Amino acid sequence: MTEPAATPLRCVVCGLGDAVTVWSVARTPMHAVRPSGVAHHASGFGQLDIAACSTCGHLSNRAFDADAADELYGALVLTNEPVSAGMIAAVDETAALIMRHLKRGPAVLEVGGGGGALSLALARRSARVDLVEPSRALGAERFAGTGVMLHRAMFPAPALAGRRFDAVVCRQVLEHVPEPAPFLAALRASLADDGIAYLELPSADDILRRHSIVDFHYPHVHYYRRGEMEWLLARAGFAIEEVFDIKQGHDMGFLLRAVTPLAREARASFDISPSEFAAALAERRARAAQRLAAINGPIALYGANAYAQALLGLYQDSTRFDAMFDDTTSYAGRCVYGPAGEIAIEPPSGERLAGMAAVVIAAYLHDAEIARKIAAMEFRGPVYTLRAPDPEAPGAIASLFDP
Ligand SMILES: [Zn+2]
Repeated sequence: MTEPAATPLRCVVCGLGDAVTVWSVARTPMHAVRPSGVAHHASGFGQLDIAACSTCGHLSNRAFDADAADELYGALVLTNEPVSAGMIAAVDETAALIMRHLKRGPAVLEVGGGGGALSLALARRSARVDLVEPSRALGAERFAGTGVMLHRAMFPAPALAGRRFDAVVCRQVLEHVPEPAPFLAALRASLADDGIAYLELPSADDILRRHSIVDFHYPHVHYYRRGEMEWLLARAGFAIEEVFDIKQGHDMGFLLRAVTPLAREARASFDISPSEFAAALAERRARAAQRLAAINGPIALYGANAYAQALLGLYQDSTRFDAMFDDTTSYAGRCVYGPAGEIAIEPPSGERLAGMAAVVIAAYLHDAEIARKIAAMEFRGPVYTLRAPDPEAPGAIASLFDP
């Protein structure tokens, strides 16, 4: 007997091979934000072929090009910079949570810190932080005198080989990694035996509950449910100390301790119906197309992020979007893009809003805060959020996906 060869189509959770497509987009932007007027108009697109494993139900993008991952992250414009009071408070809360579990002056490793907001918040609380982040947009000068040491590299970074840390922090990274098992093993190897790890990622349970089609976007290879994570973590040598519901269940956070890796049999946990899920997603897609077509006049998007990226891949062929507002000051000279071309990112203003027939809030995790800003700028037209309705908690802002 020989082992079957590992292929990219093998399920990373249960190890088996069959999967059924539940969602596909032929041509979707690979980047949420890029410099304006630089790239060829036809470049920067990838394919979504989101499939559910026939054995365990794990969702992943079978069309993701793992060979392009270095390029995807190295060239990345820094996104998810905290730009509002709410976002800054959330970063501070996470830093405080991690520090509560540590001795004084701990050595902390953050993997994939984006612009470094959390590393800086940890360093302000007297942690010594090593930050591993591949983005070439990030310069060491940003961290001069802060106690944060930047390693511009993919993880595991050769410069840190053999080092072990009191805490290992990894937020919003695992869903981008094609092979989670060796990545989690490397995180575990970086952790001291009495240390803690904090891992945060989007929840596929939330996508399955709300049928949120804009949560499928190119940079995410994998979509994990909590049960799948429990199993992957046990196998990598992490015991779960506490699980956190973040952003009303959109994300999940795990506080972990190091234990001996558990060799467990793969268990089937098939509790989704791929055909029903696919039908619900298709209905969302059609509903939003109808709503967009009914808007008579220029449409503005607010929030140049992954959800705007997904929306443009889905609808820019059939809908004209006239403005892209975002509060991130470093986005000057940058754009979002889709099959029909680029849209420059600009700061919102009452003057520009006055010319719009409707606003679609793409940054839906912050929709309440953004809706207040838009109202304060005296915009009186319809405002939609990309938040897919939660069957148990109807939102205050009309959703583009409301049935
Ligand atoms: Zn599976």
